[in-house]
Amino acid sequence: MPCFRGVLAMAENLVRPWDAVDYQDLMRKYAPAPDYFNSSYLDSPAEIESVQLERLKAKVHRASKIPFFRDRWAKAGVGPDDLRSVKDLSRFPTYTVDDIRKSIDDHPPFGDYQGVVPSDATREPMRVFMSGGTTGKSRPTFYTQWDRDVGALLTARALYMQGIRPGDVVLNSWAYGLHNGAFSFDEALARWLNCVVITTSTGNVTSTERQVELAIEYGASAICTTGDYLLRIAEAARALGYDPKVDLKLRALPNIGDPEVLSETFGVEYFRSYGFHEVQWVSVECPAHDGLHIFEDAYIVQVVDAETGEELPDGELGAVVVTELYKTGSSQFRYNIMDLSFLHPRGQCECGSWLRRMGPFAGRGDNMVKLRGINLWPEGVGEVACAVDGIDPDYFVRVWRDGNRDEMEIAVVSRRDPALFGSQQSELEAVLNHRFGVRIHAKVVAPGALDSDTELHTSPKSKRFRDER
Ligand SMILES: [Zn+2]
Repeated sequence: MPCFRGVLAMAENLVRPWDAVDYQDLMRKYAPAPDYFNSSYLDSPAEIESVQLERLKAKVHRASKIPFFRDRWAKAGVGPDDLRSVKDLSRFPTYTVDDIRKSIDDHPPFGDYQGVVPSDATREPMRVFMSGGTTGKSRPTFYTQWDRDVGALLTARALYMQGIRPGDVVLNSWAYGLHNGAFSFDEALARWLNCVVITTSTGNVTSTERQVELAIEYGASAICTTGDYLLRIAEAARALGYDPKVDLKLRALPNIGDPEVLSETFGVEYFRSYGFHEVQWVSVECPAHDGLHIFEDAYIVQVVDAETGEELPDGELGAVVVTELYKTGSSQFRYNIMDLSFLHPRGQCECGSWLRRMGPFAGRGDNMVKLRGINLWPEGVGEVACAVDGIDPDYFVRVWRDGNRDEMEIAVVSRRDPALFGSQQSELEAVLNHRFGVRIHAKVVAPGALDSDTELHTSPKSKRFRDER
C-alpha cells in the first residue's frame, strides 16, 4: 500500500474546472449572449477604452514573463511599464507565424511562447490544440480552462448574432482532429448557448446523406462546417429529393463561404464573422451589414502594411494584428496573422453599438504577388473575376515565372456553352486589366474542372492559389 500514498496525496491537490474558474467573475467580465447585446455591446467609446486599458495592462505584465515576448521586447527597447495608454500598444513589436515556427524549432516541442507547461494542468485543467499540421510542423497552443470558456463564450456571441438560439438542435460537422475548430463550436453551443449538439464530424465519419437525414429529422437550425461542405450537403439533399430551402430548417449560417451563394441556397440571412485558432472568435457582422463588430472587451485589432509592418490609417487594406486581452494560457500580443482586412473609424453603428468594426476577411497577406510592380492578392482577383456575369463563384489562381517576369492566371468556372468560353475569357481579361491595371491571364473552364486544384472534395478548406515560381 505505501506505493499509493504519493499518488493519493497528489490527487487531493487537483483543481477541478469549477474550482479553477470563478464563473460568476468570468460572466461579469465577459457578458455571454444574449445579455451581451444589452450590456457591453452598447458601451460608450470611453467605457470600451477603459476596459481595454485595464486588461491590456494586465496582459502586458503577463506576457512580459514569457521568454518569447520578453526577448523580443528587450530587443525593441520596450517593456510593460511603457504601456500607459491603449495607443502605446503600437510601440511593441509584432510577430508572425514564422517567428512562432522558429520558437518551436529553437525550443521543441512547445516553443517558448506558451505561458504554461503541461504540468500546470494539475492546478487548472488544460487542453492543447495544433494548427498548421498540413503544411509543416504543427504549432501547439495551450488553453487553460479559463481560455476555453471565455473563448467559447465569445464564439457563442457570434453564433447568437448569426441566428442560433438556446434550445436549438445544431449539427457539428467540423473535423475532430488536432485543430480546435470542432471543439470550439461544440463548447460554445453546449456550454454557452444551451444548444443540443449532434456531433457528426465530416462526411468521412458520417456520410453526407446521413447528415442530410439527421438535419431534417431533428430540425437542425444550423450545420457547423465550411461553406463549401454546406453546399455539398445542399447538393446531397437535392439528390435525395429535398429542397434545401424548405426541408432543411436552417435559421443560421455560421459557415465561412460565399455569403450570396449560401444565403440564396438556404434562404437565410448571412452574417460574416472573423476569428482564428489561437484567439477564437474576434468579430461578427450586425444586422446593418456594414463591417464586423470586434468584441473589444477581449481583443484589440490593428491593421499594418503587410510588407513593412507599419500601422495603417483606418480604411486601408493591410494585415490584421490581434492582441487578445483574456487568455491566461498562451498569450497573443500583437500577432500579425497576415489575414487582410481594414478598420472602420470608430463611430456609432445603426445597431447602436460603438464597437470598432473591421472589414471582412479579404485574403492572405503572405499570398501577395507583385506583378510588374502591382501588389495583387489572389483572393482579391478571384472576387472581381467571380462578380463577372456568367462566372460561378469558384476560381483558382496560379503564378509562374516566364523568363524574368511573373505571370498570373485565374481559372474560373462557367456553366455556359463551351463555345462561348473564348469570348467570356476576353471579357474577363478586360475587366481584370481595367480593375488592377496589369495583364492577368484568364481561363474559363466547365464545372468540376478545377476540383483537383481547389481540392474541393478532399480538403476541408478550398485551395485558391498555387505559386509555381
Ligand atoms: Zn452594428
